[in-house]
Amino acid sequence: MKRVVFILVASLAAVAAVLWGRPGSGKPEDVQKQTRFLMDTYVTIQVPGDAQAIKTIEKAFDRMEEVDRKFNVLNAESPLYRFNHENVPITDPEILALLETSLEVSSESGGAFDITVYPLVDLWGFFRGAPAVPAQADIALGLKKVGWRELRIENGVLTKPKSDVEIDLGGIAKGYAVGEAVKVLKGAGVTSALVDAGGDIFAIGELRGKPWKVGIRNPRGEGVIGVLDVSDLTVVTSGDYERFFEKDGVRYHHILDPVSGYPASGLMSVTVICDDAVRADGLSTALFVMGAEKGMELVERLDGVEAIMVTKDQKILTSPGLKGSMVTAGAPAAENPFVSIGR
Ligand code: AMP
Ligand code: MG
Repeated sequence: MKRVVFILVASLAAVAAVLWGRPGSGKPEDVQKQTRFLMDTYVTIQVPGDAQAIKTIEKAFDRMEEVDRKFNVLNAESPLYRFNHENVPITDPEILALLETSLEVSSESGGAFDITVYPLVDLWGFFRGAPAVPAQADIALGLKKVGWRELRIENGVLTKPKSDVEIDLGGIAKGYAVGEAVKVLKGAGVTSALVDAGGDIFAIGELRGKPWKVGIRNPRGEGVIGVLDVSDLTVVTSGDYERFFEKDGVRYHHILDPVSGYPASGLMSVTVICDDAVRADGLSTALFVMGAEKGMELVERLDGVEAIMVTKDQKILTSPGLKGSMVTAGAPAAENPFVSIGR
């Protein structure tokens, strides 16, 4: 059964009391848990059960590491790297499938999600140690290389008529990795688990008969803005706090508007809730770029997709589907201490 309840919390103090202030509740020792660093983030997988569950968790991690190697745009061995730098066509069916999904999200979002934004991501230097505001002329040059419609997938081969087009699946690959981990866990018969890859979370089933709890991170400061009760759902957050620098009081972050070449403004974070980790990841990035108004319009058009947005002026917006099940602060959600913080 899929269900989601969003509990808005009045204050961080209340959150702490709600989530962690119940000594004796739950039995953490019955939940096997392992954390690894991959895809540039700490990933934790929890599975209730005995020591056997650890073996299954390790299999799920192995699969995620495989995905990480293949989709890492900085890995000189990856087909993506060769496509970007040596114009070698991509034939790997797994990469092509994720590309197709990326292009669907591009189309749905009117181009707000665009995997060809990579030359600009590279220009801003978010993955090269010392990011800085580029010269306007360089942004203009970078923008000329951007355009998802330039990509051609024909007969199982991805080519680019314009050789300077470069792609980056960073806005969707983590969701894919999470989805693959979920497949491994379910394939091994797991009926309850939480896969938490920083901002990308998937909850399988329930924890001891109750939905898993996922906190939505406060984009400014510690703690959470609310808690979701989720079961068989993914919760994916894109935020301006994940990778950023400040210059002259302005925050520059890693989610770029493919039209301006600058970081998308208007929102601090977007959380997408649905049952598909891949789409949720693509959509969270897309909605972030689209902003509150257009973004919420898109959410309303999509079946089975809900969203929570935090605006630049710190307003919390929730899609109508979530409002229907909203519970006020301090309500029952708290009995389960296993909370993940969406980052
Ligand atoms: P996420 O954290 O899922 O929102 O993804 C952010 C990452 O996606 C960035 O680090 C870039 O690698 C990439 N990216 C940035 N802007 C866009 C965009 N407009 N469309 C697609 N990918 C993007
Ligand atoms: Mg994303």
